[in-house]
Amino acid sequence: MTSQPSPSRSVRSAAIIGAGQTGATAALGLLDAGFDVTVYSDREQRSLRDDVPATGTALEFGEAQQAEAALGLDSFTARAPRHTGLSVRVAGPGGAELIDFDGNFDGYVGVAVDTRLKADERLTAFQERGGEFVVEPVTPDSLDRIAAAHDLTLVATGRGGLSELFAIDTSRTVYDAPQRSLLTVTVTGLDFDRSVFAHRSPAGGGHSGFSILAEQGEAWWGPYLHKDAGPSWAFLGWARPGSEWEKRFAAADSAESAHRIVVDLYRDYIDWDLPEVLATRVIAEDPHSWLKGAVRPVVRAGLGHTASGHTVASLGDTSVAYDPIAGQGAQSGIIQAQRLVAAAAAHEGPFDDAWITRQYADFLAARSDAAAKVTRLFLSDPEFADIGGALFAAAGADSRFASALVGLLHRPQPFLGIDSVEAAHAFIADVTGESASAVLGRFQPAGTFSRSVYRGPLVRV
Ligand SMILES: Cc1cc2nc3c(=O)[nH]c(=O)nc-3n(C[C@H](O)[C@H](O)[C@H](O)COP(=O)(O)OP(=O)(O)OC[C@H]3O[C@@H](n4cnc5c(N)ncnc54)[C@H](O)[C@@H]3O)c2cc1C
Repeated sequence: MTSQPSPSRSVRSAAIIGAGQTGATAALGLLDAGFDVTVYSDREQRSLRDDVPATGTALEFGEAQQAEAALGLDSFTARAPRHTGLSVRVAGPGGAELIDFDGNFDGYVGVAVDTRLKADERLTAFQERGGEFVVEPVTPDSLDRIAAAHDLTLVATGRGGLSELFAIDTSRTVYDAPQRSLLTVTVTGLDFDRSVFAHRSPAGGGHSGFSILAEQGEAWWGPYLHKDAGPSWAFLGWARPGSEWEKRFAAADSAESAHRIVVDLYRDYIDWDLPEVLATRVIAEDPHSWLKGAVRPVVRAGLGHTASGHTVASLGDTSVAYDPIAGQGAQSGIIQAQRLVAAAAAHEGPFDDAWITRQYADFLAARSDAAAKVTRLFLSDPEFADIGGALFAAAGADSRFASALVGLLHRPQPFLGIDSVEAAHAFIADVTGESASAVLGRFQPAGTFSRSVYRGPLVRV
């Protein structure tokens, strides 16, 4: 739990710009830590919930959930359908069915919660407990005034918004463009029991399903908690530049068309999962249940200054934008928010440049650098081709290592020090207790993936 202010200390003030899930989390955390907090949002609360799509799928695991628990917040693990593992299939050039494995989440679960729902609940609690919510699109000029009037100002306006106030960290930003085009759509019609995706895992619908097609991109299905429909499923697809999938994703202009594109994708490329996909239905009550776009992975500075030189701190996607392939963005923002709240509550002096710079460096070292590197691994970055080849083959050969590999989505830190095939082999040996050559010697190409025989309700689209 966050600490209460000491009776002798005067109440300190904080401004949070942006009421997405990261800003709402930091606001509630600082309020509960005794700060006088004002949130500035470019939209009214109802509009944040109902007039925009969710920023992303926001699948979060144990470490991010622990950060929420440390703030006294609900991480939705009792309300959202739980992910207990990830089933992975890798098809190579020409569609050759190469690697399949099913990793368990050992000692933690994943939940993907609609960012609009999470932010909405936290904003409601924030206002009920005395926080001030101001509807005002903040500009660089008005930020100057706001920062002057508060002891601590956090900018959580997402990837766009006011992010340009924070310089790009060129030593950490390795891509000059997005690496994938994205398409996501949330649907109903599919259960979560063992009969669903049973061909992939004995856990059935408890495990999300990831397919990597070397020539096209990646496709993922996972259980989701939608703000209106409740327990549901989310599709998330990544298309490589110049691929056929990229053309298909670009054509989406509604939830219905996005859904149709996904069904056709599975019919044409990923037939092993097709019966489940045919059972899904668009969420009629939410016209914003889909999203397309692209994210350039960018790391910005944690510290910025307004025109008159007031100190401001970046937070969430404003600090670091990740391609969502390893599910790191929402997790990173929550962890960053919790660390900032805990440090601010304990800090006695001013929230000056040195304090903000120190907090940000600690956050990069504790989570973000590793999260960005694991994202590059799952993006099949050529720099990690040999390392990724060894790690994915080992996962295909050994179920313990499969769990360790998918565990990097929860705790990416073990990958931070892996910069060579030798280091990858040491990681494999460490997890399995066998030499990497013994583990990799057992690897057999999948040959043909097992196909779904799911007999759910077939819905024609
Ligand atoms: C397709 C996709 C899938 C994803 N899947 C995952 C996943 O599985 N796991 C994971 O951890 N992460 C995932 N992410 C990332 C995750 O969704 C984001 O990191 C997270 O939601 C960002 O939250 P945020 O609050 O920092 O920013 P945002 O949600 O962008 O919130 C910013 C807020 O600031 C407001 N704002 C903007 N400008 C101003 C202004 N000038 N004044 C006032 N308010 C302003 C906006 O209206 C918005 O409400 C995914 C992202 C995408 C795109």
